[in-house]
Amino acid sequence: MKKCEKLDFNEFHKAPRLDDQVKEACRCNNCGVPFCQAGMMIAGMASGCPLNNLVPETNALVAMGNLSEAYTRLSKTHSFPEFTSRVCPALCENACTGGLHGKPIATKENERAIIDYAFEHDLVKEHAPAVRTGKKVAIIGSGPSGLAAAGLLNMRGHLVTVFERSDRVGGLLRYGIPNMKLDKRVLDRRVALMEEAGVIFKCNVNVGKELHASDLLKRFDRVILCTGASNPRDITAPGRDAKGIYFAVDFLKEVSRKLMDEDYDSDKVMSATDFSFGSLKGKNVIVIGGGDTGNDCVGTSVRLGAASVTQLEMMPKPPECRAASNPWPEWPKILKTDYGQLNAIDAYGHDPRIYETTVTEFLKEKKGQLTGVKTVKLTPKKDEKTGRMNMVPVAGTEKTLKADIVLIAAGFLGSEAYIREDFGVECDGRTNITVANGSFATSKDRVFAAGDCHRGQSLVVWAIAEGRRAAALVDESLMGYTNLT
Ligand SMILES: Cc1cc2nc3c(=O)[nH]c(=O)nc-3n(C[C@H](O)[C@H](O)[C@H](O)COP(=O)(O)OP(=O)(O)OC[C@H]3O[C@@H](n4cnc5c(N)ncnc54)[C@H](O)[C@@H]3O)c2cc1C
Repeated sequence: MKKCEKLDFNEFHKAPRLDDQVKEACRCNNCGVPFCQAGMMIAGMASGCPLNNLVPETNALVAMGNLSEAYTRLSKTHSFPEFTSRVCPALCENACTGGLHGKPIATKENERAIIDYAFEHDLVKEHAPAVRTGKKVAIIGSGPSGLAAAGLLNMRGHLVTVFERSDRVGGLLRYGIPNMKLDKRVLDRRVALMEEAGVIFKCNVNVGKELHASDLLKRFDRVILCTGASNPRDITAPGRDAKGIYFAVDFLKEVSRKLMDEDYDSDKVMSATDFSFGSLKGKNVIVIGGGDTGNDCVGTSVRLGAASVTQLEMMPKPPECRAASNPWPEWPKILKTDYGQLNAIDAYGHDPRIYETTVTEFLKEKKGQLTGVKTVKLTPKKDEKTGRMNMVPVAGTEKTLKADIVLIAAGFLGSEAYIREDFGVECDGRTNITVANGSFATSKDRVFAAGDCHRGQSLVVWAIAEGRRAAALVDESLMGYTNLT
């Protein structure tokens, strides 16, 4: 393994230079028809910003060097640009007209420049209402959907209490996305502003277990469920009970918690041995799942000194460029090499990903400690009855890989049963809480749902968009009208 002296848990994205921002903003001015702000579904995938950010308008203001006005414009549609400008896969850029034949405008970087400027110049405020309406709203879950709904409803004058089962506010912003992508102090700064403006946060309260729907519905006029989709999909192969197998979010959460407890001292975290998985130093790590969560596990494992990191992906390697069946401005289904994979390439000299492969067995020694995994190659095959393409094993391609630690990042199964049952809300076949078309109202009177618990594991930008829309509908249901957008 090559030495990665420069790697630590500090954020790797740096704010863009002013002249670069202006150059990009000027390119945006040349656009004829902007698709970046549409946020519409094309071929089942989102194209453009789900928040409908007024991208050409904010970029025009950046081009004039007026970042203060650009912030005012951005905050009309967005609650937390400091989160998305760090973690968003930039749906706006993937639908950018500039991307049709060339490089899309760096809108995400410009968003970062605008919000950095706004914080530096003390422009960012969470508005405390001059008058309270006397209405009370409980929000369950403090992820981006819960925070977005809380901010708007508080601004409108309702008394908002956010209940969170974890020890700290933020949902997956806090305990999923690693610090090197989103520094947790960025989250603390926003939460402090919200508290100052009157939002009440109650952590370590597990609703559905320690506090029940019947009680909440007596004390509050409305409840919004923003509880996420944290049920991990397991791998049910023989040997699953071996010691050394962890779910990705449990692993990432432990590392983030340690970093915060150690006052953001990366060296202490990198040399720690008291994780539930011990230390990764010198260990062979296998990450099951080729998606973004898997990538975060790869990046974290490299930082913790793993001897090797391998990432297994069931699906075939995506193409480098858009296929003819996936034209602009659809979301591009192309190969993405993210920071974790780049870190692994630097550290070990090769891409950690192995495609079209799954685990068929976990191998363990006598005491139950994991020693390796058996894998098999997969190939796409059409099911003649349903017409669906399935990945099926290829005989004779079995292999054994050495593994001391396995991290399962195989996706999520939807919302958790105990909270749904406590409130008596209905869900679909994927256990996502169902809402009346476009209204965020669940099957239970006065109970709403937003974010991943309703749409399935998604993106921060979608969670913020849903939190804002749910807030507007809750406000309307309380007041008979709403001026929230
Ligand atoms: C590892 C990882 C990395 C990711 N990286 C990115 C990224 O880079 N960019 C991106 O856009 N998206 C990313 N995502 C997805 C994104 O984080 C989620 O889509 C988003 O956080 C969903 O927001 P939410 O508010 O709906 O739920 P969550 O963020 O999941 O928050 C739900 C909150 O509800 C709390 N809760 C649940 N049940 C209860 C209860 N009964 N009582 C009290 N509280 C409860 C939970 O503790 C949690 O704090 C990532 C996801 C993961 C897992």
